[in-house]
Amino acid sequence: MADFVESAKNFVSSAVSRTSWEAQKQMRVRGKQNEIDKLMDQRRQLLDELGQIAMTQFQQGTLSDPQLSRVCAGIMELDHDVKNREAQLQDIKKDTYMPEQPAPVADYNPPPFTPPSSSTGPKQPAAPTIPGNQGQVICPNCGNSVRANSLYCRSCGARLR
Ligand SMILES: [Zn+2]
Repeated sequence: MADFVESAKNFVSSAVSRTSWEAQKQMRVRGKQNEIDKLMDQRRQLLDELGQIAMTQFQQGTLSDPQLSRVCAGIMELDHDVKNREAQLQDIKKDTYMPEQPAPVADYNPPPFTPPSSSTGPKQPAAPTIPGNQGQVICPNCGNSVRANSLYCRSCGARLR
């Protein structure tokens, strides 16, 4: 009987030390995960900085790497699209309900986007349109087709307007 009590005590005590060991392990896991998160944060910040540097060089016309230029052109296009959507969003917010008037039939047409005039470099002539394919133009630099209202070619990054 004494043996049974002794082994029960041992069982309980080993269960307790195991519990505290597991708790400590949890703390070590959380601590290490925190370290990783902090490093990943720093990494994201540097990556962001890298992008900002490339974008600045691209906008100044001093970015020579074609792959980076292509990515920057894509970002410029997205910025341009976002600006259009934001203008449309403001118009939607301004809309008020007017029951007497007939509902508008025509789709909303955003005003043409006028990019801020840059003083760096001469403007390239407008890209030729593709016959029978409205909304697409040929990039004068690489010959790929791009959207007619694009500021930059998504294939090569050349400025189109
Ligand atoms: Zn191109």
